[in-house]
Amino acid sequence: MKLLVATNNKHKLSEIKQILDLLSCNKIDLLCSTDFGKKIVPQEIGTTYYENATIKARVFFQEFKISTIADDSGLEIDFLDGKPGVFSSCFAGEEGNHNENRKKVIEILQEANLKEAKARFRCVICYIDNNEEFFVEGTVEGKIIPEERGENGFGYDSMFIPDGFEKTFAEMTDNEKNRISHRANAIKNLVEKLKSDNIL
Ligand code: IMP
Repeated sequence: MKLLVATNNKHKLSEIKQILDLLSCNKIDLLCSTDFGKKIVPQEIGTTYYENATIKARVFFQEFKISTIADDSGLEIDFLDGKPGVFSSCFAGEEGNHNENRKKVIEILQEANLKEAKARFRCVICYIDNNEEFFVEGTVEGKIIPEERGENGFGYDSMFIPDGFEKTFAEMTDNEKNRISHRANAIKNLVEKLKSDNIL
């Protein structure tokens, strides 16, 4: 099946491609809006992952009329009552300024004298086609540290150590992260749901 990914984030797109490869799922042919020579920037004005994933999926589906998924995701730090959460990409103010976002988290942890803080990444995916609209979700538990380690990945990867590991996501290979991440867990649930609904 053809499946459009409603994102302008090239990291998310390449991770989803790689996760599907790792799941040996070769029945999905991923597309993105640049395949159609068009850039669409939906207004992510929701206050939950569900709302934002729905906004993105609907805008892209209405434009291209192809089965579509949209991923909305974020980092939840227990010490901050789940923040930055749905506002992860603009935690320091400016949308998508990953450097400043990480700096802000490091400052908060340092001020509180914390060497680590329990956290998780959460990913909500909204799927839409002509007949249905549903959500799947995935999380990965771990901790956030007040320093940056590693060069891979994006966002908060260099500060996040998943449970059972010593390395941050940014110190892992793409394959290592893409086997255990929140996005990997959400995509596994998506593939199962598509199969059980006879869409795949
Ligand atoms: P979204 O594009 O609105 O879903 O924003 C997601 C934001 O959450 C990103 O900009 C990152 O700050 C953070 N985030 C989500 N997934 C990841 C990940 O896999 N690694 C690191 N940061 C992530």
